[in-house]
Amino acid sequence: MQLIWLRSDLRLHDNTALAAACERGPCLALWLVSPAQWKRHDDAACKVDFWLRNLEALKQALGELNIPLLIRVADDWKDAPRVLHEVCREHGVQDVHVNEEYGINEQQRDRDVGEYLQQHGIGLHSYLDQLLFKPGTVLTRQGGYFKVFTQFRKLCYQRLHHGLPALQPLPRKQAKTAVASDDIPRHIDVFPTPSPSLREQWPAGEDHARERLARFVEDDMADYTEQRDLPAVDGTSQLSPYLAAGVISVRQCLHAALANNYGEFESGNPGAVTWINELLWREFYKHVLVGYPRVSRHRAFRPATEAVKWRDAPEDLAAWQEGRTGIPIVDAAMRQLLATGWMHNRLRMVVAMFLSKNLLIDWRRGEEFFMRHLIDGDLAANNGGWQWSASTGTDAAPYFRVFNPVSQSERFDSKGRFLRHWLPELKALDDKDIHSPGGLFGVQGYPQPIVDLGPSRQRAIDAFRQLPKEHSNEDAHQY
Ligand code: FAD
Repeated sequence: MQLIWLRSDLRLHDNTALAAACERGPCLALWLVSPAQWKRHDDAACKVDFWLRNLEALKQALGELNIPLLIRVADDWKDAPRVLHEVCREHGVQDVHVNEEYGINEQQRDRDVGEYLQQHGIGLHSYLDQLLFKPGTVLTRQGGYFKVFTQFRKLCYQRLHHGLPALQPLPRKQAKTAVASDDIPRHIDVFPTPSPSLREQWPAGEDHARERLARFVEDDMADYTEQRDLPAVDGTSQLSPYLAAGVISVRQCLHAALANNYGEFESGNPGAVTWINELLWREFYKHVLVGYPRVSRHRAFRPATEAVKWRDAPEDLAAWQEGRTGIPIVDAAMRQLLATGWMHNRLRMVVAMFLSKNLLIDWRRGEEFFMRHLIDGDLAANNGGWQWSASTGTDAAPYFRVFNPVSQSERFDSKGRFLRHWLPELKALDDKDIHSPGGLFGVQGYPQPIVDLGPSRQRAIDAFRQLPKEHSNEDAHQY
């Protein structure tokens, strides 16, 4: 008997470990419920709920192939070796198959499980699946991990020219087994159930994810370059929750984009090129996670920036978290996050810069808050995005280039459509005032700005300027 241990790969199509397990013989699937571990990772309640809903859909799909899905509890991943071994013993499993995960705790868990199973004569086989390229295979000439995205991407392009990673075959139906699937928990106690509207916005199941992908590449990808920065427009794929949970694979995304761009990834439709570029950012940050493990340990990528004197300002932090800073674009974005579990990419950069620069609050507070609320929370992308915005990371925004949130708002939401949707209290303002309603008297029911943008920008620049010169990042590439 073979076992596929599912983690962030909740799909039937193009699933490397599942295809390999089914190829070898009759197969069972397993999912571990690990609430204590998830809490320690700051996984959001809406993300846990999304996993459970996708598992329900996957259980049905696996059932049609006669592959039972078992659910076991390993509250902490320290318990995983024992729980895996019990399942193997109970069902006579000889080989366990997994798709690689890249966080340091995930890698440690898999090493522990592998060693424990080996002691009992059971093999653990792991596969590249979450990424196009295995971390450690896209390296500089000196053999190190890239620190600059454009150079990383160049090598990725060269590799892709030599051949695309192939899609995996769909597993065949197997003979019925006597093993019954377990019930999927409807919710986990320590993670509150999200609102019905949030759930509706992110329907579960890979059929839905594949439809979303097809719709995006056919209808929206051509305009992606122009539309992707406009928060009031659905101009991006909104596939991130599905990619993070593995309900769709990056290979499926790449193949679909290429099929709509005559197989070109560096030329042709600019929308396709830009979108594939984003898939490569995803790739880059996962490689950074493996190559520079300090970023998983709450350390800055640029060690010199550890010396920044962040402000301890709990009231400002709370105002940012709750969307009441008095800067409309920041507040609207934070309300979008709290209501939907997702935030538009442009706004993630705006609110992250506002927190780490204008409020000069440690980016780690923002990273953690995002993780606790994002349905697409992903350690590598979230850490990469935060460290970029805070000018502490690879390729980061130079510290002196601080976004002005009001100008960003005027530029990317010029008619105030996004603002009016999330801040109904500002609805009556005209298209100009809505971006900056502070004025002399302000608007009733809406706070005055908690910070003056000009002086706070200067305060951040000064805080970074004091860092040792050789470590400043004035030569960093722009995003
Ligand atoms: P699209 O524009 O359609 O892009 C397609 C896919 O490419 C995305 O689904 C995502 O998987 C990937 N992608 C796009 N942009 C990036 C990027 N800059 N870095 C890495 N991957 C990218 N993305 C997450 O998936 N999880 C996170 O926790 C996360 N946290 C972020 C925090 C900050 C401060 C910032 C600035 C960015 C963060 N991002 C994160 C990246 C990006 O904002 C989201 O991936 C994107 O908004 C998701 O929307 P979409 O699926 O419509 O993206």
